[in-house]
Amino acid sequence: MTTAAAPKAQPSDLISQIIYAVRLMGVAPIPRNYQLFYEAYIGSNPDLTRDLAALGNRANQEELDELSHRHVGTGQATVIENAHTRILGELDSLLKILRQEQNSLQSYSKLLGETAQRINSKSNFSSELLSNAISLLSEATGTTLAHGEKTAGGVEQRSQEMDQVRRELDEYKRIANTDSLTRIANRRAFDERLAGVYNNSAVLPLTALVLADIDNFKKINDSFGHPVGDKILATVASVIRSNVRKEIFVARSGGEEFAMIVEGNTPEEVLIICERVRRALETRTFRNSRSGIEYGPITISLGFAMGSQAEDPGELYANSDTALYHAKNAGRNRTVFFEDGMRKDYIGKGWLIYQK
Ligand code: GH3
Ligand code: MG
Ligand code: MG
Repeated sequence: MTTAAAPKAQPSDLISQIIYAVRLMGVAPIPRNYQLFYEAYIGSNPDLTRDLAALGNRANQEELDELSHRHVGTGQATVIENAHTRILGELDSLLKILRQEQNSLQSYSKLLGETAQRINSKSNFSSELLSNAISLLSEATGTTLAHGEKTAGGVEQRSQEMDQVRRELDEYKRIANTDSLTRIANRRAFDERLAGVYNNSAVLPLTALVLADIDNFKKINDSFGHPVGDKILATVASVIRSNVRKEIFVARSGGEEFAMIVEGNTPEEVLIICERVRRALETRTFRNSRSGIEYGPITISLGFAMGSQAEDPGELYANSDTALYHAKNAGRNRTVFFEDGMRKDYIGKGWLIYQK
């Protein structure tokens, strides 16, 4: 293959071609390059396919980035996400085909070997017939074995390349979903997870969205500076994360707001989870590790609602947010469970008049 563009390839060939073309061009095997080639190869954007082909085999990273910028839009997380999902899907099907091939060749060789042994043990064959049969079989077996070994080697090599692509893509996805300050899931990952809450209505009564907001955080920034505020944010995130079981999804959903999606618990149990986190923060001393200066107590207010109390993710978020602000209104450093009447309060007199 001498040019970069070869649209309409079979799925199993596609990944090999992409890997080969990226390598041939001598550019880094990074997700955005795979993505660009992928988009060009499936032919979804004929202009991109044409422009990539026009670069031949001598493009550099800047030229590829320019193409990405023009045709793919590397800044768009959803495009990356889709390409990631599709490439991984195709890697899986390719690996499956290769493994099947390897298995069937191995069993064919084994079968031939066994047949040869059986023929050998039958005394009623003439010796000539027997030796012919065995030599035919061993020839066939030999060829098949050699072919099998070659295929096995190919599978091994391709598996390694694909494992590397998979690792790079997974790493890229992880970065796209992680908040760089706190190292927990970011807003993007949270939105995605929240959107999935309504996929199974049967579990909604046992699915909660918890929102937790640091109390008077502005004062911390004002008193000690933004960098200290950042450190405290990271610590709060890690305290929340380490005080709940790992199946609970924890994200930084906004500036000094965190979200938890708790599945499989009643409201009473969710309240206990929230209170454990709240107490863990309340009882922790936040101080500068070098100077020993104490930053004072750091507390959070929490509000939560159950999936069954809302029709969709947007309403669920609004309900949890309503409960959160009731917690703030009631004096902060507490957990409030959403009740239907709250929205009325909110609109009528609640915290339209709420002052910080
Ligand atoms: P309340 O108890 O009502 O939540 O009061 P608050 O001061 O926490 O709330 P407010 O919304 O008035 O202020 C939030 C502050 O959080 C203001 C903003 O500068 C700060 N903040 C948001 N994101 C970051 C961040 O990434 N780093 C730092 N250091 N501060 C942040
Ligand atoms: Mg706050
Ligand atoms: Mg806030």
